[in-house]
Amino acid sequence: MSRLQQQQYLSLLSNCKSLKTFKQIQASLQKSGLDTDPFIYGKLLLHCAVTISDALDYARFLFLRFPNPDVFMYNTIIRGFSDSDTPQNSITAYIDLRRKSFAPPDSFSFAFILKAAASYRSLRAGIQLHCQALTHGLDTHLFVGTTLISMYGECGRVDFAKKVFEEMREPNVVAWNSVVTACFRDDDVEGATRLFNRMPAKNLTSWNVMLAGYTKGRELELARKIFWEMPVKDDVSWSTMIIGFAHNGCFDGAFGYFRELQQAGMRPNEVSLTGVLSACAQAGAYEFGRILHGLIEKGGFTWLVSVNNALMDAYSKCGNVGMASLVFERMPGTRGIISWTTIIAGLAMHGHGKEAIRLFHEMEESGVRPDGIIFISILYACSHAGLIKQGSDYFSKMKDIYNMEPAIEHYGCMVDLYGRAGKLQEAYEFVCQMPVSPNAIIWRTLLGACSIHGNIKLAEQVKQQLSELDPKNSSDHVLLSNVYAVAGKWKDVAAVRRSMSEKKIKKTPGWSMIEVDKIMYVFMAGEKNNKITEQAYEKLREIILRLRVEGSYVPEIGSVMHDIEEEEKEDQVGKHSEKLAVAFGMTRLAKGVTIRIVKNLRVCRDCHTIMKLISKVYGLEIVVRDRSRFHLFRDGSCTCGDYW
Ligand code: ZN
Ligand code: ZN
Repeated sequence: MSRLQQQQYLSLLSNCKSLKTFKQIQASLQKSGLDTDPFIYGKLLLHCAVTISDALDYARFLFLRFPNPDVFMYNTIIRGFSDSDTPQNSITAYIDLRRKSFAPPDSFSFAFILKAAASYRSLRAGIQLHCQALTHGLDTHLFVGTTLISMYGECGRVDFAKKVFEEMREPNVVAWNSVVTACFRDDDVEGATRLFNRMPAKNLTSWNVMLAGYTKGRELELARKIFWEMPVKDDVSWSTMIIGFAHNGCFDGAFGYFRELQQAGMRPNEVSLTGVLSACAQAGAYEFGRILHGLIEKGGFTWLVSVNNALMDAYSKCGNVGMASLVFERMPGTRGIISWTTIIAGLAMHGHGKEAIRLFHEMEESGVRPDGIIFISILYACSHAGLIKQGSDYFSKMKDIYNMEPAIEHYGCMVDLYGRAGKLQEAYEFVCQMPVSPNAIIWRTLLGACSIHGNIKLAEQVKQQLSELDPKNSSDHVLLSNVYAVAGKWKDVAAVRRSMSEKKIKKTPGWSMIEVDKIMYVFMAGEKNNKITEQAYEKLREIILRLRVEGSYVPEIGSVMHDIEEEEKEDQVGKHSEKLAVAFGMTRLAKGVTIRIVKNLRVCRDCHTIMKLISKVYGLEIVVRDRSRFHLFRDGSCTCGDYW
């Protein structure tokens, strides 16, 4: 082959992105008999394995066809499979290289195969490879040493990683970054910081590694400091901050970084968008979600499945499952199992059981195979809509049609299904007959059902089981005290509460969140220390006065506090955080705007009544997301049908 021909083929190859074009180039090489040249064949193989997506198997086919592959070709295959789903193919190629090849493995072979061992998390294989590198005198090679550090870090041996690092004569910035990453993986934030401060030179990755490590280690202040010190920031830096803050429940921070990213003139990417949408979903920040939706449409991100999935999730969790459905309908033939799960879970949360069932059926028709997670969603949907027959049918379907073994979560859904519907005996028998031993969550679900339906005898039995499994859980005690309260057994109520204080069991404080002008306001029960809460209290007093007159409201003081973990003092009922949040929303939001509240605990009976009355007397729509579901209050009634 002439040099010119070689150049022509190589330039053709460098522009080739699809497997189809690649095969055409390969065919033409073959026709002219040029594909026997190991140099050209090696380039061909490399392009197929590394550049073209989803072509690894074809690369392996090409590799096996070549009579005597050289080390370069072996390395290409080892490299290609090292971060694939099947790293074992790298190992096979490496073993072949040692057995069949005329030349020994080189530094690249070791670097790539160590990467495969790391993605396998196989410490044993890693140590063996380390020894082999040692015999070949390659263990101190910069490239090999760096991958050894990462491998030991991945496999949880940060001590080995540090030792390799210390033995390196002149570690470069990549080696420094690897050892810092290994420290973070071991939750050693201080060690990572010390190393970072000692680094002779830093690159962009060094900074990004620190951001990821700090946010993972909940050191948000440190992350913030590093972020603003960075001379240059890239996509990864921004999205790491957005996701890191969102994961730590610091939603305002996540929103803030997203805004800053836009102000810096950068275009958001898939990662930053899904990160900020997840913050929206958790915070219930509906208005911000709508702005993001606009941005997604305008910015041409609608073809990204993960962004659509995150948008649907945000809409459902912000209380607008209708918009979530709209996004789902418009997803152009790209719905994966996660998309179906997101929309079905959204419908379930809002009590639209029948619609969830319709979509589940549609999904099966379209040929998508359900997985364990979507079965949890559909069972939850049936349970929250009181569809007992359909729920148990799905449970059987899992085993009979799809040959799947139900996990403890699926059993939990079934207990909830029977329990909610008041079929407590069935629920109890179901638990006793489970092939796996029931955990505290299962018993707690049953206890919750006893509390709703006032079955003291069963509640005591169940509480006994819970005391053995999880003695310090506050909600169990409050649930039991509620069961007694329903039956008017005040002595027993007092006994449960006494035992709680004796065991020093702390209750989770209740809070509610509301978004006004894109700012999230958080209210705590009984809190009275700033202008905002004072304003809310004043409005609340006015509201209650009007409700007493126009809605014949009588406070449910002294009755059961359904707010199961908190706020049990009688005079506290009037100060529950969701009441304050609604009152505050009514002073600040424009007329006719839906009030959206996120609450961390279950909404209590009294608050529920107030919300219904407000919706009627003031002609307002209120959406409350509590710990168990959504409530949409409109015209004096709630979508949960007073059953939650
Ligand atoms: Zn309440
Ligand atoms: Zn409700």
